[in-house]
Amino acid sequence: MNIFSKSSLTIITGFLIIVFVTYYLAMNYGDINKYQSISSSENTNYDKSERSSPELQIAYTYKKIYEMKEGETFSQILGKTKLNDNEIQNIIKLTEEKIDLKKLNIGVKIETLSILKNDKPYVKNIIIYPDKENEIFIFRNNNNFEIKSNKLKLFSDLVYREVDIQNSIFESLIKVNTPEKIIMEFVQLFSFDIDFQREIREGNKIKIFYEEFNDQKQNFIKSGEIYFAEIQLHNHSYELYRFENKNKNLVGYFDSKGKSATKALMKTPINGARLSSGYGMRKHPILGYNKKHQGVDFAAPTGTPIMAAGTGHIEYVGNNGGAGKYIRIKHLNGYKTAYAHLSKYASGISKNVKVNQGQTIGYVGSTGLSTGPHLHYEVWFNGERINPMTMKLPSGKKLENEELVSFLKLKEEIDIKLNIKPLN
Ligand SMILES: [Zn+2]
Repeated sequence: MNIFSKSSLTIITGFLIIVFVTYYLAMNYGDINKYQSISSSENTNYDKSERSSPELQIAYTYKKIYEMKEGETFSQILGKTKLNDNEIQNIIKLTEEKIDLKKLNIGVKIETLSILKNDKPYVKNIIIYPDKENEIFIFRNNNNFEIKSNKLKLFSDLVYREVDIQNSIFESLIKVNTPEKIIMEFVQLFSFDIDFQREIREGNKIKIFYEEFNDQKQNFIKSGEIYFAEIQLHNHSYELYRFENKNKNLVGYFDSKGKSATKALMKTPINGARLSSGYGMRKHPILGYNKKHQGVDFAAPTGTPIMAAGTGHIEYVGNNGGAGKYIRIKHLNGYKTAYAHLSKYASGISKNVKVNQGQTIGYVGSTGLSTGPHLHYEVWFNGERINPMTMKLPSGKKLENEELVSFLKLKEEIDIKLNIKPLN
């Protein structure tokens, strides 16, 4: 008897719970389904449900995400929401004060936050993400809309990598998820000292310490500065530290003795990241400097940008016999550099124009007497061609006094952090 009444109580209680839960779910999902049928096929996320008293109305706040498609305008997207024409016009006017709506790219995300009350939806907030770092927040305040732009919060991450070079520096670093921009900057730092086609060998080592910025969800947003970079060749090592002085009017990369990485001319005037010593070796013999050749060749794909090895003025641009499309730059102190076999010149490159070190002046090609796409690079000093691989350029800036002291302190901090032992 006792057992019977106990179990029947359990059954009744269980039954009541099931009835209640079913009723509750039916109420809720009934409404959601109704909404889904009026909403488009676009991505809809239900954020939270809230009850509003006293009439036991159920109100939902829900989020929709739109993505700009090709040829679509901001106003067309707003037209897909439950905003009326008047509201759309107001929002467009407001937004135009903050950003150029014509410049919203394909793929830009626009988020709406709406409230569904008594089956009537109305848009509460609109968020535009014009790029990875900003958001534009449009919100309803009484019957008007207001606008605010926010910078997204980014989180800094310091990254240290140590890799052996295989094939090319680019491949070796991209394999360990180094951002492309960092790789390009890394190579640029050493382009004054290293001939990337002849001096880099399989198994040479790279060390790099840099900053990157991620969003809250750990998505990569952008790269920051390189703080330390090192290349170990088979018989020599180069290491560079980023240093900024107290007054912040000097920033640059310096070797362990405080000597600037930047020199008057580059040894490799194309980005060496993708160059490998084996590239195109069989088809186009890579010639070093000798009496007959009088320049160095960098075998690289057609279209690879060529940089001005140093600051100067264009002395010659045009066809030059066997050299094909050709550029020569006059630098200070009796130096000149020449670039041959180009596929084309960069825009704005003409005689007497001033060019800055690192500026793109043309593109690798195979014009003139050439067996395949490559850059033939020459350095002239006082009217004679010299070997760029062994040229001794006047050294760049050297840190002194107070600046040297604070540089050496920074260097030591980085060395300890990365457990770097003194070189050579
Ligand atoms: Zn050559």
